[in-house]
Amino acid sequence: MAGVLVAQPPPSVREQARGYVATLAGPAMHGRGYVSGGDSLAADWIAAQFDRLGLAPLDGQRYQRFHFPVNTFPDSVRVAIGGTVLQPGIDFITDPASGPAEGRFALVRPTFADLADPDARARLFARPPGWAAYLDRPATTDKDSLHAYAAFEAELVRHAPVLKQGGSKLTWSVANEALPHAVIELRAGAMPAGADSVELHVRDRFIPAHAARNVFGAARARKKGSTDWLVITAHYDHLGRMGPDALFPGANDNASGTAMLLCLAERIARHPLKKVNVLFIAFAGEEAGLQGSMWCAAHPPVDLRRIKLLINLDLNGTGDDGITVVNATEQRKAFDALVAINKRTRRLAQVKPRGPACNSDHCPFALKGVPAIFLYTMGGVSWYHDVNDRPETLPLTAFDGLYRTLIDLVDRY
Ligand SMILES: [Zn+2]
Repeated sequence: MAGVLVAQPPPSVREQARGYVATLAGPAMHGRGYVSGGDSLAADWIAAQFDRLGLAPLDGQRYQRFHFPVNTFPDSVRVAIGGTVLQPGIDFITDPASGPAEGRFALVRPTFADLADPDARARLFARPPGWAAYLDRPATTDKDSLHAYAAFEAELVRHAPVLKQGGSKLTWSVANEALPHAVIELRAGAMPAGADSVELHVRDRFIPAHAARNVFGAARARKKGSTDWLVITAHYDHLGRMGPDALFPGANDNASGTAMLLCLAERIARHPLKKVNVLFIAFAGEEAGLQGSMWCAAHPPVDLRRIKLLINLDLNGTGDDGITVVNATEQRKAFDALVAINKRTRRLAQVKPRGPACNSDHCPFALKGVPAIFLYTMGGVSWYHDVNDRPETLPLTAFDGLYRTLIDLVDRY
């Protein structure tokens, strides 16, 4: 008599992902950026995970090395206005391209009209050093005016430090250049009324050729000698630290996608695909302008023509409103397959199509004709490029649903 087959529910990978995210976005990895070797520590850790999961190096190489210029802030960034010491990362951020400033500066408040007037500008720039400009948010939304304002600001920073009034949300980033003076963005409400001076201690360190590494792991197909590839990618770098006091953990961006990549790697290393090899790539330098994926697409580790599909995972940590598929309109087959899987399983609230966008690491490959899609989750917490994108508050709502959906998709190869 045949035994009774009981369908076992697949085990949850969310708890495992939580552990990965906690490690990658923990303080010991320094925000996986450019202070205290954060990105390099993350690369070592991911390589150790690939070893543990049984992913092979590619042609003997675990890493792909490349370089790019980056502006960094290893030292404490201090801003005090009218006796109030502002909190780094919360009350202010440096412009990513900020240069240095040291000492007390008289605040000058040029208006848009001042900046637009060549004589007023000339008088301003002729002032002896010891002043900093404070710029209010432009009152206009007119494109030409905003463009002019940005041009005046760029001219201003060649002469003196600049403080800019930002919005209620501060969004940090990474720059590949360094300006001659400090540029500081203040949170709305952080500028004390009537302040006439500012104390700045800002010291950037510009690195002309920062050494970074993409990390490779391969799982060969069951079919011997297959030359076809499925490529699964996620960037592991984030913004790092703005001095020792402001950590940008990057839990959603992109410890979450890296965790998804590791969970998929574990499953596929144990159960290789039938016909297609799988290459996992953890990219560096995404936040610095898709540096790792651009280098990789220009120096491809496998024949780009043999890539059946590239799936890029970035911002996979929420999901109340389902997922968006970037490049869905160009990669109809892959998108339709995801929709069909979800119609049957109802794991995700929505599988939403989006057109091409050069907003993550799929892009340099898509531009070279590789069939590539990028998946991100929607809804839930919206911390982004700030000190609040932390593991403790990352819900991972759709993590299991997306993981199983992706397994169903890749198992067709
Ligand atoms: Zn990202």
